[in-house]
Amino acid sequence: MDYRKKLVVEPGSKVRLSKIDPSYSGEHESHEKALPEIQANVERMDKLQYLLYADGSQSLLVVLQALDAAGKDGVIRHVFSGMNPQGTFVFGFKQPSKDEAAHDFLWRAHLRTPEKGEVVVFNRSHYEDVLVVRVHKLVERRVWSKRYDLINDFEKILIQNRTTILKFFLHISPEEQLARFKQRLDDPSRHWKISESDYSERELWPQYVEAYEDAVALTSTKRAPWYIIPANHKWFRNLAVSQIVADTMDEMGLKLPPTRVNIADISRKYHAAARAKTGKGKGRTKEAVKAE
Ligand code: AMP
Ligand code: MG
Repeated sequence: MDYRKKLVVEPGSKVRLSKIDPSYSGEHESHEKALPEIQANVERMDKLQYLLYADGSQSLLVVLQALDAAGKDGVIRHVFSGMNPQGTFVFGFKQPSKDEAAHDFLWRAHLRTPEKGEVVVFNRSHYEDVLVVRVHKLVERRVWSKRYDLINDFEKILIQNRTTILKFFLHISPEEQLARFKQRLDDPSRHWKISESDYSERELWPQYVEAYEDAVALTSTKRAPWYIIPANHKWFRNLAVSQIVADTMDEMGLKLPPTRVNIADISRKYHAAARAKTGKGKGRTKEAVKAE
């Protein structure tokens, strides 16, 4: 199944989250059966990230948005942990600091966008400024309502600078969220993650749904698409995200840069000399020397 086709939000389409089953898991029956596919995707991502880094002419920005406990951290740990940390960065966006709040809302996001060759994952993002900010009325409607266009323009700048953008909304049900909060209560190692506001935010669920539906519908574009990932099953979430990332990177046309040196020359000049000095290679077969 091609989850890019299945889960993408078509530009200009209306989004009704209530019509999308958060427990969807495709044709896959279980975690065990999906695991080899997830692992294969993660390995593909690792190889492609090496190419992206070597190629050095493009970059990838992955935006993760979701309500609490939907699995943003889980995606980072299970899907992106295969990539080389030298060239892969994760930034979490919290309540703006004094410095951040003193600038326009896109400033702090722009500071963190990937350099050429890099993969950057946003754990929350500039979208919070049309989500939590809208739901909690932190700014007036006339301010946040203009931000969708500003976000689209901002992302256009990045795309023109050869950044590929992928945006994921992890979609869980309120029941699943409550069950996950309960698991946290039952596990002392995760108590630090709990706050009372997690529970009070649940009362705003319908407002968040509305804000997400608008955000996703108004900013899903051909070049910076949103994907709505059914996330009640953690393994399906990981499968879908890893497949979409790997398939997208596959189509970026990444290439190893041309060799700038004469490999044969260098090999002869430095390695043959070293072998002669140490005596290595003497009296051995060609194959043994090669394998050295
Ligand atoms: P967490 O992701 O659990 O670490 O929490 C980060 C918190 O920061 C969340 O409650 C977000 O809604 C909040 N947050 C992120 N960006 C903004 C923003 N621009 N304005 C207000 N709150 C934000
Ligand atoms: Mg939280």
